[in-house]
Amino acid sequence: MFESMIATVAELDVEPMPGDEGYEAFKIFEAHKDAYWSAVTRGEIAMIDGLPDVAGSRTDAGLLDAGQRAERLVAQAEGEKLAAVAEFALRSIANPAVGYDETAMMRSVEAEVGFAFRISSAAAHDLLHLAMTLARRLPRTFAALKSGKLGLRKVKAIADETLNLDVAQCARLEDTVLPEAETRTVRSLKEMVRAEVEKIDADAVRKRRESAKADRTLYVKDEHDGMATLCLYLPAEQARAIYDTINSRITAQRTGPDDERLIGARRADHLVDLLVAAFGVDLRAVADTDSPVLTAEQIARLNRGANSYVPSEAMKNAIRARDKHCRFPGCRRPAVHCDIDHTNSFNLALKAGGRTIYTNLGAVCRFHHQVKQMPGWHLSQDDHGNFSWTDPGGRVFVTRPPPADGDEPPEFWAPEAGAHTYPF
Ligand SMILES: [Zn+2]
Repeated sequence: MFESMIATVAELDVEPMPGDEGYEAFKIFEAHKDAYWSAVTRGEIAMIDGLPDVAGSRTDAGLLDAGQRAERLVAQAEGEKLAAVAEFALRSIANPAVGYDETAMMRSVEAEVGFAFRISSAAAHDLLHLAMTLARRLPRTFAALKSGKLGLRKVKAIADETLNLDVAQCARLEDTVLPEAETRTVRSLKEMVRAEVEKIDADAVRKRRESAKADRTLYVKDEHDGMATLCLYLPAEQARAIYDTINSRITAQRTGPDDERLIGARRADHLVDLLVAAFGVDLRAVADTDSPVLTAEQIARLNRGANSYVPSEAMKNAIRARDKHCRFPGCRRPAVHCDIDHTNSFNLALKAGGRTIYTNLGAVCRFHHQVKQMPGWHLSQDDHGNFSWTDPGGRVFVTRPPPADGDEPPEFWAPEAGAHTYPF
């Protein structure tokens, strides 16, 4: 009843005066609201986790209480998910496949986590890393997440900032930080943790900087509308110096009245001109890549080297053009950086498969190539370039070859209904 009254009252723009339409309903609503809060004060309304149960009577304040409760449930659910992932990983490490060490097992686990949650390799790596960090080094922070006291963002902040601390140092940090973590915002908590890390390990900042510097990299990220971002991850002073130099050169350049390029486009063009000149990049040649669509004769010609273990350069180029990137679900490592892998291991004794032919080769990055060789993994390929991956838990996903142009197909595509064929 209270809810229907709220619906009626919510349609009123201003508080009605005596005699106005809706005045009576408004008065009743106000009376109920007062009665409700009096009941809360008198302790007559049920409390859940210290907050009033407002499911049947949604006042403004009650809605926020309901929101808070939901947030706590989200944290608990995140904790449950991370606990399951951590336990899965710990079991795999505790009982490794014969001949495989922890690093190798973690590779397989990471790929399985990606499969299970339909996430990219990078996201699977982050999820697994967080789960293991919490389980091994921050057990009380983990417990706070599982109980719903701390949200995932706060927990991540603690995990990120304590990356270089050992178990004992993490325990000391939890002593200081956890009692205050609930009442701080994420940013304030991050600052507190950082300050504590410096107290515990004065060398921490230097170590973090060094390890961050080792991660400097250059990579390309595909974007929509035929664009891509070329990213340089650098020490801040280097990045700033390069950017400032380009900027000041652009500012000093004279532009004609017809030059309508935005400042960002001029910066980009200037850097491209410099790089093209320095490396002799032929942009026309880049545009003229091999077509991924081959005729039967072309494929037959490529397959002439079927009995040689090493594919010809022409075959490698054709596979790279077809696959564009690693063919493991969710992995976008460019084909040019991938191994050209025999889907069925090269074996001339096999009547079918096992040859160096177009339908038995694929671009697979080194990481997923290693995963493929772990026990319990299986890969097959059909005549249309569909790759069917099976993980040790029996999950099967197919990746279709990327189209010559246009959108990529879904990255996790079950081949048929009931593809989750568990072997038990
Ligand atoms: Zn890969």
